[in-house]
Amino acid sequence: MTIFKKSEEKKSEEKLPIAAIEDLRKVIASAQMPSHVQQIADKELEMLSKMSPATAEYTIGLTYIEYLVSLPWSKKTEDNLDIEGAKKILDERHYALNSIKERILEHLAVKILVANRKPRILVVDDEEIVRKNLEHILKREDYIVITAESGVEAVEKLDATDFDVIITDLKMKKVNGIGVLEKAKSKYPDTQIIMITGYATVDSAIEAIKKGAFHYISKPFELDEVRSTVKLAIEKKLSVISTKGSILCFAGPPGTGKTSLGRSIADALGRKFARISLGGMKDEAEIRGHRRTYAGAMPGRIIEEIRRVGVANPVFMLDELDKIGQDFKGDSASALLEVLDPEQNHSFVDHYLDVPFDLSSVMFIVTANIADNIQEALRDRMEVIEFSGYTEDEKIKIALQHIVPKQVLEQGLSDCPPEFTAESISRVIQEYTREAGIRNLERQIATICRKIATEFVRHKEAIRNIKVTPELVERYLGPRKYYFEVADEKNRIGIATGLVWTNTGGDIIFVEAARMKGNRELILTGSLGNVMRESAQAALSYLRSNASSFNIPEDFFNNHDVHIHVPAGAIPKDGPSAGATIAIALISLLTKRPARRDVAVSGELTLSGRLLPVGGIKEKMLAARRAGVKIVILPLKNRVDIENIPEDVKKGLEVNFADRVEEIVDMVLLLNDSSTSIGIKSAYKSNNPDRYIMQLKYPSCNRDENLY
Ligand code: ADP
Repeated sequence: MTIFKKSEEKKSEEKLPIAAIEDLRKVIASAQMPSHVQQIADKELEMLSKMSPATAEYTIGLTYIEYLVSLPWSKKTEDNLDIEGAKKILDERHYALNSIKERILEHLAVKILVANRKPRILVVDDEEIVRKNLEHILKREDYIVITAESGVEAVEKLDATDFDVIITDLKMKKVNGIGVLEKAKSKYPDTQIIMITGYATVDSAIEAIKKGAFHYISKPFELDEVRSTVKLAIEKKLSVISTKGSILCFAGPPGTGKTSLGRSIADALGRKFARISLGGMKDEAEIRGHRRTYAGAMPGRIIEEIRRVGVANPVFMLDELDKIGQDFKGDSASALLEVLDPEQNHSFVDHYLDVPFDLSSVMFIVTANIADNIQEALRDRMEVIEFSGYTEDEKIKIALQHIVPKQVLEQGLSDCPPEFTAESISRVIQEYTREAGIRNLERQIATICRKIATEFVRHKEAIRNIKVTPELVERYLGPRKYYFEVADEKNRIGIATGLVWTNTGGDIIFVEAARMKGNRELILTGSLGNVMRESAQAALSYLRSNASSFNIPEDFFNNHDVHIHVPAGAIPKDGPSAGATIAIALISLLTKRPARRDVAVSGELTLSGRLLPVGGIKEKMLAARRAGVKIVILPLKNRVDIENIPEDVKKGLEVNFADRVEEIVDMVLLLNDSSTSIGIKSAYKSNNPDRYIMQLKYPSCNRDENLY
């Protein structure tokens, strides 16, 4: 942006002409900057007026002033505090997500209550006439006004109750205005304090501002000045308390509606929407800017985005907080705390600006795929709202109600909208996507719409009133991309099914185990992380030390190597929840009993064979259903998580719980005389063979107890 033209004529001059300086001064004065920023801008302009426009310093200085005046220092949008309107916007644009919408409406309700409360003002002055005057003016503004005739009385009143704004004389006996300020700030940090001073005490008033006072008014004061300063102080207090404690963190897999909900919150509140992604950020300067002394210095992304939206109170989404680059230069947590923490962000200093910018009226929303991966110092200050993946039914409804109409519009088909059937959407979900959210689904629907648009343009009339059927889906999208991994596979010895939780939601894994002649080595492949490698070691050690209780030869490791592989080798995998699955794959291998593909196990295994609870249960259940799993086995302590997830997520799944790995062996492994090529369907025909084995081996164990 260039506000001031640097004409050739100017360049040839030694200095900036006086008229241009005056123009600049006017622009600075009308930029509604806080007084301390304006002073800096004026000082910079002063320096500029003494420089030759041909120098590099001149350009740097001019760009800096341009930047300062282009920022929305006090420009804010008015909040639309209409709770019914907000509910309507959220409901219209987003299917389900009820608890999340409720939380957002609660947030709004608090704001409305705060905004509608009559502000309470304490007037402190030892001169009765001043006190009475202020009381009179402020009561007429419909504030609740309480007076105190000394600093001592003000402190007593502060002990009893809180005020939104305090107007206090600076010079008083015993406890002066600074004493009142310190008392108020120590007890109620959000209270805004306005100092009243005589000319002689202006320096002390500036000192008071450094200590946290909101503003000062010099005696004799003008009524309008009092009114407007108090109004600003009240607005400041309201904005601080209404944004306080409200850093919402939306955590969940991609495509579950986090960003679009953020956008809707902005629309519901009538605020602008700003967004930056933190994923892969490597340098503190990207957040906080470069100092101006660097060549090509630039402001950080936060301030730049605020400038772009042009208001100081947008809804600001910081995406992928859990993906900040590992090799981040500087302390990412402290830089972000300065942005996010309501105690600090009223004076956020971008290195380029070099003056504090007040971010306290911004409503920050942070997103992450997995909240646990956010640095603790930051996570502690956030309210984490979990977004989980959608069931197939939910996806179909979202597609029919939201995605199809949106894509029909975007692909120019509004005049001849094709009709999508639920079966066709279901076909897209099952055969062309494998995800917790609905990003790919949206992409595939967009592809279908584009193909229809092309046909329409080429063949015109023939293509009107088109009905998208499953057959048409196949014609437009080509051969299916995904299969039911489980339902289409056979039961095999040494291969067990597990459930894991990844950045993109829950997923299914197959753990393969093989044994061959060798040197007692455990070989682990499939891009396994440290935690998963250790789980495998623990599982092997547990089996070696308890071989006899599983009918495994004690010397199975002698003169042999054991290899554990988790396919999709290019995708890095980590976490403890595959421990139990690895153990089952090994037991299957060593007892030669085939493992049922349609039984998925998730649990951390200890060296003593106990199963510890694991995370991401809802996501894992959704992944199990997507893959065609019939039975899920979880640690006993995860029972409460299962009880808390909605019925439709568990629909069609049998969930069993176990405390020890011994208890799950017969739930997963078939008898070794079963054919290794037995299909799942035939296993089912034999009416749950595991129940039979269970009774055989643990006659006292009633498996139904563990049935969900
Ligand atoms: P995320 O930020 O979680 O990755 P997005 O907000 O970008 O996800 O959502 C991807 C797409 O899915 C968007 O077009 C969004 O409107 C749509 N979407 C996701 N969840 C819902 C929902 N519950 N109702 C309607 N549309 C949704």
